Amino acid sequence: MTMNPLRLDGSVCASHILEKLKKTLSQLKGRPPTLAFVLVGHDEGSKIYVKMKQKRAIEVGIDSKIIALESNISEEALLLEIKKLNDDPLIDGFLVQQPLPSHISLDKVVLATNPSKDVDGFHPFNQGKLLLGQEDGFISCTPLGIRTLLEHYHIRTESRHVVILGRSSIVGKPLAALLLKRGPFGDATVTIAHSKTKNLSDLTQQADILVAAIGSSRFVKASMIKEGAVVIDVGINREGKRLFGDVDFEEVAPKTSAITPVPKGVGPMTIAMLLQNTYKSYLCRNGDRFSS
Ligand code: NDP
Repeated sequence: MTMNPLRLDGSVCASHILEKLKKTLSQLKGRPPTLAFVLVGHDEGSKIYVKMKQKRAIEVGIDSKIIALESNISEEALLLEIKKLNDDPLIDGFLVQQPLPSHISLDKVVLATNPSKDVDGFHPFNQGKLLLGQEDGFISCTPLGIRTLLEHYHIRTESRHVVILGRSSIVGKPLAALLLKRGPFGDATVTIAHSKTKNLSDLTQQADILVAAIGSSRFVKASMIKEGAVVIDVGINREGKRLFGDVDFEEVAPKTSAITPVPKGVGPMTIAMLLQNTYKSYLCRNGDRFSS
């Protein structure tokens, strides 16, 4: 059966959120929230992402700065830069853009970040809090963006089977923790699949909500999904000048009840959540309510 699926438009939803945030920030007295980006090396993709996040930050009234470092910076020197950001009272949050050069340990970088400034939500302290069902730390921006998008379109998750393709620590695992939480837009039954999962199609066909976060262009085909499923496509795969998701949109969309496009799906939500997390950090910092 061909359906006319609901398009889960991340740019529209993100614009609503950012407009609200802009209004709130315009009424602040004193200094604005400040977000710093650490950019190591000259990866073109990373530069574009950081510029895009900075542009959005400025639009809503968040101050930002980019700390650009050479790709041959030593791990020790990078950790020192992170310490400076941790200690700087005027920085509310910062992120170290990935990928990092291979001589630098991402684990060490994440661990060196003060959890109270970890607006990406990657630090084990924040990930652990989420796993315990607590939301007062920072939640990874992509999972938080997905839940916010579902909420925006009134797509309930309670008692539904969510199948997540991908077990990364920035998407798959924190999303599973978020949707498993008790309460509204949680209470889902969650299955995570990965590259070693057998009979993937049997599993994905059982999904009421399918989330694809594997980084493989147009991998999910119509035959893999259940009629009327909700499909969330996290993937960003560049082919020449075009971007494709992990879902074969043309083929899959008619079989779904709702689906995110790529681009303008999950991507803008991730940025909106980053800025929301920065404001949360600012509030906690000024109200001294965040303990780490
Ligand atoms: P990772 O490479 O860290 O993880 C990919 C996951 O997918 C792994 O768990 C891997 O399994 C699994 N996987 C790979 N191939 C298959 C397969 N054929 N079948 C089942 N599972 C598979 O990626 P990320 O989580 O960082 O990102 C995933 C995608 O999402 C990328 O395209 C990325 O660019 C995009 N992304 C988009 C964001 C946005 O804002 N829209 C934000 C973050 C990421 P295994 O663990 O066994 O290797």
